[in-house]
Amino acid sequence: MSEPLLLPPLREVIARHGLSASKALGQNFLFDEQLLGRIAAIPGDLSGRPVLEIGPGPGGLTRALLRAGALVTAIEMDRRCLPALAELETAFPGRLRVIEGDALKLGHDALMHGEPYAVVANLPYNVGTELFTRWLSGEDWPPRWTSLTLMFQEEVARRIVAAPDTGAYGRLSVLAQWRSRARLAMKVHRSAFAPPPKVMSAVIHVEPAPMPEGVSAVMLSRLTEAAFGQRRKMLRQSVKGLPGAIEALEKLGIDSQRRAETLSVEEFAAIARVLTG
Ligand code: SAM
Repeated sequence: MSEPLLLPPLREVIARHGLSASKALGQNFLFDEQLLGRIAAIPGDLSGRPVLEIGPGPGGLTRALLRAGALVTAIEMDRRCLPALAELETAFPGRLRVIEGDALKLGHDALMHGEPYAVVANLPYNVGTELFTRWLSGEDWPPRWTSLTLMFQEEVARRIVAAPDTGAYGRLSVLAQWRSRARLAMKVHRSAFAPPPKVMSAVIHVEPAPMPEGVSAVMLSRLTEAAFGQRRKMLRQSVKGLPGAIEALEKLGIDSQRRAETLSVEEFAAIARVLTG
């Protein structure tokens, strides 16, 4: 995809528009265009493909996505960033649509006109985790999104891809793995951000996979919430408030003295299937 104009360096864009990073909005900006290009390459060939970017800020990742040929819809809630993003709209005519708003309050599928789309985002931790859980919790599967490429604190990224019997394995791991493939695609040093956050970051990439039959997503969500809500306790204690759960363990021959973190993703799905009935 050809570069329409030589874009000014991101630091200059930020200075010209007075975009001091807001702590309240979790703003840590990325300036290294090579790094941004590598992140934009994680979802694969984006040429002509619709991409939903959440939290474009001054547009560093946005320009990398546009350079990769994507058709970008970007949701940003900080209106101070809109003039900088408008410059990108001009530089890539018809390829960028900026929506001012809170991504937690907007219907993403409707915004993308029901077409399949890739999601790419560098978000504050709390918003990212909330959206991630929602994207993975829908009862309809496969979802309209074709992949999620998301920046997280490295510790959260490790929880998402963790295997059983590790300290990082928990609810997020099961949610991300029972009907998706999740991988840690890239580590990003804290010094790459301005201002640098306290911790290291990592980009994860998730693609939907076939769903095990007969399992309700809501049931799996309730089961993992109960099981990991008291992760140090034995299952017979942690899931006893969930009707039918103890009987399901017996039926499947799963020892109720085990703790949640020892159960495989497949075992969680099997218990949820019995509970789904
Ligand atoms: N993408 C830019 C980059 O990589 O340099 C900015 C990343 S900064 C960590 C997160 C951005 O998300 C900020 O621009 C912030 O204003 C925006 N943001 C935070 N919460 C949001 C929400 N609920 N909906 C939409 N944007 C949000």
